[in-house]
Amino acid sequence: MKIGIVGAAGRMGRMLLADVLQAPDCRLAGAVETAGHPAVGRPVGALLENGHAGASDGAPLPDRPDVAEALAQPVGDDAVALFAAADAVLDFTRPAATVDFARLAAQGKTVHVIGTTGLSAAEEAELTKAARHAAIVYAANMSLGVNLLLALARRVAATLDIGYDVEIVEMHHRHKVDAPSGTALALGRAVADGRRVDLEDHWVKARDGVTGPRRDGDIGFATLRGGDVVGEHRVLFAGAGEQIELVHRAGRREIFAQGALRAARWAHGKPPGLYGMADVLGLADTRG
Ligand code: NAD
Repeated sequence: MKIGIVGAAGRMGRMLLADVLQAPDCRLAGAVETAGHPAVGRPVGALLENGHAGASDGAPLPDRPDVAEALAQPVGDDAVALFAAADAVLDFTRPAATVDFARLAAQGKTVHVIGTTGLSAAEEAELTKAARHAAIVYAANMSLGVNLLLALARRVAATLDIGYDVEIVEMHHRHKVDAPSGTALALGRAVADGRRVDLEDHWVKARDGVTGPRRDGDIGFATLRGGDVVGEHRVLFAGAGEQIELVHRAGRREIFAQGALRAARWAHGKPPGLYGMADVLGLADTRG
């Protein structure tokens, strides 16, 4: 598969770059950054430290001519050409850019794997439109563990009554720009699905001052930011006399990059549509 990467100089972009170059069944179709970014025009290899992206296993890149060629090619800023040339494009960028890229995916019938978080409802509606023409996989969290957590949160919420107060606590590194995290919101949605209510009618995304007592059925969120924490999510069901907690800790960004690559392979050749990681991982039938 020919795979393109947009936002290639970002934290996730560099990780994706190393994984694509390491995969025997993938070729790099190109690496794109936003126009004016210092990486544009520099060789792709300059984005990787010591031949790898700081992956925990430090695996060297394969000694293949296509890898050497990919490392020497310059980082570009032409997303239109990238979407036309690639079978799939991996996108961990920013919401406005992701919406533009989804339109390019629709034009080129290119698989579009979206990890970008913080999209508004209107921006998500644009993805749905684009997905009439291209296979799009969109997930706030591409890790296997978090997708299992989503299925579990839905199941626990469906089992417990609203006497169990739900609070979702997340912590991320100090550079994260959106809050609550896309994954925390996805967990809230899973709880709301389990309760057969709309999240928007019950979420409490911040508390400050005299807020009054907690209302029955509220789904609360708390956001922590600091250090280099890759991502922690906790769903707490607090009842009278007992608490149940579901917890996931991401130790390395690689889990998201590997999930994105898995999503690209899965979506290759699939009919147009907006898919999630539950589809990719075969968890869609565990939603109940
Ligand atoms: P980052 O800021 O390090 O990287 C984003 C990159 O996108 C930057 O290099 C930026 O220049 C580039 N970019 C922005 N607009 C662009 C455009 N129009 N064209 C090309 N490139 C553009 O951020 P990050 O930590 O890599 O995270 C990126 C996104 O992915 C965030 O929304 C984050 O929440 C999300 N994320 C999702 C998952 C998941 O599993 N779904 C995992 C980690 C991060």
